[in-house]
Amino acid sequence: MSRFLSSRFASLEAYTPGEQPRDQQYIKLNTNESPYPPSQEVIERVNADEVKRLNLYPDPEGKFLKEKLAKLYGVEKENIFLSNGSDDILNFSFMAFCDEKRGAVFPEISYGFYPVYADLYHVPHVKFPLKEDFSINYKDYCNVDKMVVIANPNAPTGMEIGLFEIEEILKSNPNHVVLIDEAYVDFGGTSAVGLVRKYPNLMVSMTYSKSRSMAGARLGFAIASKEIIEDLEKIKFSTNPYNINRLTLVAGEAAVDSDIYYKENAKKIIATRETTVRALKNLGFLVLDSKANFIFAKPPNISGADFYSKLKKKGVLVRHFEKEKIGDFVRITIGTDKQMDVFLQKTSEILKGR
Ligand code: PMP
Repeated sequence: MSRFLSSRFASLEAYTPGEQPRDQQYIKLNTNESPYPPSQEVIERVNADEVKRLNLYPDPEGKFLKEKLAKLYGVEKENIFLSNGSDDILNFSFMAFCDEKRGAVFPEISYGFYPVYADLYHVPHVKFPLKEDFSINYKDYCNVDKMVVIANPNAPTGMEIGLFEIEEILKSNPNHVVLIDEAYVDFGGTSAVGLVRKYPNLMVSMTYSKSRSMAGARLGFAIASKEIIEDLEKIKFSTNPYNINRLTLVAGEAAVDSDIYYKENAKKIIATRETTVRALKNLGFLVLDSKANFIFAKPPNISGADFYSKLKKKGVLVRHFEKEKIGDFVRITIGTDKQMDVFLQKTSEILKGR
């Protein structure tokens, strides 16, 4: 900490993103990116003409993109908030809907950024443990009188909770935002977007980083009541109105136009996931039931940390969390069939002590 940093942040522990090593080419199965490129339409529309217009600011409202997303999800443009990746939505939500008195709750094992944002804004927070089987006990989140944040499917487990449970949480916390983080919903999960009309306290956040192959472009969006969206816009226009650059807006619109391509990719990833799960179970792994583009698995007769480093030495990167209760597991992003074949090959070698 420098002598310049405000004492407000003295005890803040920043989020640690997954490795993005530059030392060699790895099979990268560690940050839940899509193994497939953006659609041809995206590639063609982000062209030299668009680059030539970078002297101009982007549309701070993102009107065209909002219109396209609203149509795709069957809501109004006023129900959509656009952001620089969905981390931005989380940031704005903790800023807008919490403070020293209005707290937040989220699962103990979930996306590691939730407690960081809570600490950043000095938000008192409670982390509820998962059940023995790693599922979320929705009853913990009923009547909490705080903002509720749940990733569905959850990360890093990949497991989902049902809409019935989400409705119970929504009904019992009418004066607080219930943020359902659907970063991974397109890989077989069930979206809560259909409940937005019924529950003014529901916010669903989504991202282009996973199923839409645009992690590098930084684009996320939230779907919620007009009331919630207006609050988020107020915060955005009080911090950085141009938080989405021109090229990303264009790419985001083109991606909606090629929705079929992305749905096909999601199907391929689901099929690859199921094949990989079967293969890992045959090798003796314990694998949680995933509805995401990653799996959370515990190798037999070797620690999670060891398995992670042995794989890295063999050129395959997965994610290991040095954390109580999940230290025995690794999180494996689903790549192409070919990448997963290599991963499985290297895994067999490691289990045989080679
Ligand atoms: N939510 C969850 C559960 C995530 O795993 C991630 C990706 N790390 C995000 C949100 C944020 O993704 P992005 O900012 O790229 O949209």
